[in-house]
Amino acid sequence: MKDYQDFHTTSNFSAEDALEWAWEEFQDDVVMTSSFGAEDMVIMDMLFRRKLKIKIATIDTGRLPEETYKLMERAGEKYGIAVSTYFPDFSEVESMVSEKGINLFYKSPENRKLCCSIRKVQPLNRLLNGKKAWVTGLRSDQTEFRKNSIVVELDKSRNIVKINPLLNWTSEDVWKYIKENKVPYNELHDRGYPSIGCAPCTRAVKPGENERAGRWWWETDLKECGIHMNHESQPFPTEMVIKGRRGD
Ligand code: SF4
Repeated sequence: MKDYQDFHTTSNFSAEDALEWAWEEFQDDVVMTSSFGAEDMVIMDMLFRRKLKIKIATIDTGRLPEETYKLMERAGEKYGIAVSTYFPDFSEVESMVSEKGINLFYKSPENRKLCCSIRKVQPLNRLLNGKKAWVTGLRSDQTEFRKNSIVVELDKSRNIVKINPLLNWTSEDVWKYIKENKVPYNELHDRGYPSIGCAPCTRAVKPGENERAGRWWWETDLKECGIHMNHESQPFPTEMVIKGRRGD
């Protein structure tokens, strides 16, 4: 079996190697979270080709663009993979919208963070509950914050191992893979949306802008919703390796 630390120190291990390691190591205790972005579609395609049965889950915030729902359908038809869908707590959404308005996120950073917390972070925490590892489509060059990530790291607040197989890929690498392997992707990418989240919080970017500039474009600080801000960029402690791993 490959050693996870090698993913950080050599370039001999591919994204597929990291996924195979995650499956071997964690089996039913690992989940991939997908927002059906370009990177997530690459990982989904790799799982399909390598016949890795890592479960896939997504969060429907209730504010996604129609194009994302269309892609969910197309991906399901192509890969035949069941994707578990998690929704926000309806009573929390009802209270938030009744009190602060349907588009509260434009009014203040606090409102925006509240909406992301209720619609994204809390369902994520629910879907990760009881899991020992999760696979993400993070790339280190997407934001300054993500530059601190490593391929296999510990999300300390959730006490879960986070595996980022595409961390060292560039956007060009992602699109080369998508074209060569005819991977389905969100049609908004062809209309200037390199990064796609909820419809009211995503716009197309202008030439030369950072690929996440269209996310919460009216804000100037971190372009993050809170999902990926809890990790410590350190290899996970080896004592967290699951007992009963095959071959032990
Ligand atoms: S991206 Fe916008 S609509 Fe979606 S959860 Fe965050 S604030 Fe709410």
